[in-house]
Amino acid sequence: MPEVTTASAAWQLLVTGNSNFIAGTPAHKHQDAQERRDLAIEQTPFAAVFGCSDSRLAAEMIFDVGLGDLFVVRNAGQVIAETILGSLEFAVEVLKVPLILILGHDNCGAIKATVSAQQGTLKTEGEFIQNIVTRITPTIERALAAGETSIDDFTDRHIRDTIAEITDRSKLIASAVAAGKVGIVGAQYSLALGEVHLVEAVGEIA
Ligand SMILES: [Zn+2]
Repeated sequence: MPEVTTASAAWQLLVTGNSNFIAGTPAHKHQDAQERRDLAIEQTPFAAVFGCSDSRLAAEMIFDVGLGDLFVVRNAGQVIAETILGSLEFAVEVLKVPLILILGHDNCGAIKATVSAQQGTLKTEGEFIQNIVTRITPTIERALAAGETSIDDFTDRHIRDTIAEITDRSKLIASAVAAGKVGIVGAQYSLALGEVHLVEAVGEIA
């Protein structure tokens, strides 16, 4: 069981850590040899993070946390798949994290690739890249229908849609949210500012 047991306390820890990172005064917690050895016995992360694989979205760095703090799942464009849902269910059921953070970012290449695919200008040879684009496409279609035009608006919508998909498809996570055992926060990260801003909160997040 993590020491931090509520979604709001976990979110506050992430916000505080992100402030340290923005200010350029990180504490570099939980990264020394003794802590590494202590943690080898058991992990008790206080949050699960599902974010984009972008090399600039390094979760432990931008939230100024260390080993054992976050259970991190990432893929290009943070696209839900069964293995992602399984990983998040594991974090909730077994690790008992009180918070799931869905983390997108501005200027996201996966979102931009999906827009290019819509416009017929996407040029990729990878057989499986299309899987990512196809999964993001319904969000972009809804965004365009709603009159949205910016990549960052599309990303906010994709973050909200991702949260909805998690609670629609995972009965375990939906029940944990309903029971107040876990909260879900969606946030978008600014690559230039290093700042995370809240897009949506589900559950008891103060
Ligand atoms: Zn991205």
